[in-house]
Amino acid sequence: MVNAVEAAREASREYPDALGDCGTGVGRRRGGQIVNDEVGPDVVAEIAAYLTSHAEDVADADGPPTDWGEAVWTDGCGAVQYALWGGGTDEAIRWAQSKANEVARARDEAEPYEAAFAASIAKAADADDEIETETSALRNTDDWTAFDVQPSDIDTLADEIRDDVATIFEEVLDDDAIRREIDAFATAEGEPSSGAEKSLTGLSRRLREIISNAGLVEEIRETVDDVAAGQIRDTLAGVVEEEDADVDTDPIVEALQDRETAFADDFADRMSEEIRETVADGWQDGKNSFEIREDLQAKAGEFGDWQAERIARQELQVATGEARTEFAAEAGKVEVWNTAGDDRVRDAHSDMNGTWKRPSERWEVDYSDAGRGVQLEKVPGDSEPGIGCRCVTLLVDPAEVADADHAGVAK
Ligand SMILES: [Zn+2]
Repeated sequence: MVNAVEAAREASREYPDALGDCGTGVGRRRGGQIVNDEVGPDVVAEIAAYLTSHAEDVADADGPPTDWGEAVWTDGCGAVQYALWGGGTDEAIRWAQSKANEVARARDEAEPYEAAFAASIAKAADADDEIETETSALRNTDDWTAFDVQPSDIDTLADEIRDDVATIFEEVLDDDAIRREIDAFATAEGEPSSGAEKSLTGLSRRLREIISNAGLVEEIRETVDDVAAGQIRDTLAGVVEEEDADVDTDPIVEALQDRETAFADDFADRMSEEIRETVADGWQDGKNSFEIREDLQAKAGEFGDWQAERIARQELQVATGEARTEFAAEAGKVEVWNTAGDDRVRDAHSDMNGTWKRPSERWEVDYSDAGRGVQLEKVPGDSEPGIGCRCVTLLVDPAEVADADHAGVAK
């Protein structure tokens, strides 16, 4: 993609008469972000939408932008804009679409692109509409205030931990044992034997070791806990007001202060998956382990962005959910599952909408459609396949719920 941007810039210099007025706006800024590796979650969604909906603009061009001739470059502004957005190769559009899907998953949104490349091109005409839907969704309506965790809370926390998350990724890449595992994986990948599988296990194990010993993880945890504690207090204050209940919330806050924040394991899993994918891609492109390590290095910032947002959302979501559960127990209420009600809610959670459980129970959530089986959740979305959830529980009098809607099981 960097090559495409550079080719577009080169063409602008070479054909100033034809292209002088092209690519002055957003495209040029995107080009800069791609070259400087500043592509965050929102930008990647925009890039995917642009490359998908404007694929027609370069339908007549052969090969990658670095091979395009004067005729392609100077036929209107379409080609130079497309390349400034990093497009012009199958890899670029695939990369953008799969990253946009990844961002959507982390945000509990429906994936905007089909897995099959051809299918997503067919959907090109719809892509702009989908982006529209995303930005005008529930988070901009009054109903959203009913939810404890606001997007701005997530952004604030994500900003605070972003650099630490990226630094951990860099530290991992500097680790000698990790380098050896990556080399071993790069060599074994594609072999018929189970060599790749074996070194992947080694990689994951070492990652967990590093992450559980890293002081930075402790720092992230402390930041998360601080912000979550504030959020728990806000949630409880809100519930007390809503319910007009006579419950002392101090003991609840205290009890929740020592809650288990279990993000280190998830963090290690994500990182090892990211490393595995990058190594596998590099191996397929015929890169050596030095080049693959360079690719990984380039990913640190991006990884920091996405994981910071993911951690922030999940930890705040679970903390406030636990606060509501504890309050329900104190106040003799049951909990009713309530989704955000928009088209971004995953099917498994839509199915739960309106069901209830007692505070001592767990929700039985069926993720079979996603191949993840049935999971028990104390708080909506607190299992591994539930990550990214935006659902909330309403606290209701036991007399007001129907037996048929009971979805809790004794834990
Ligand atoms: Zn949910």
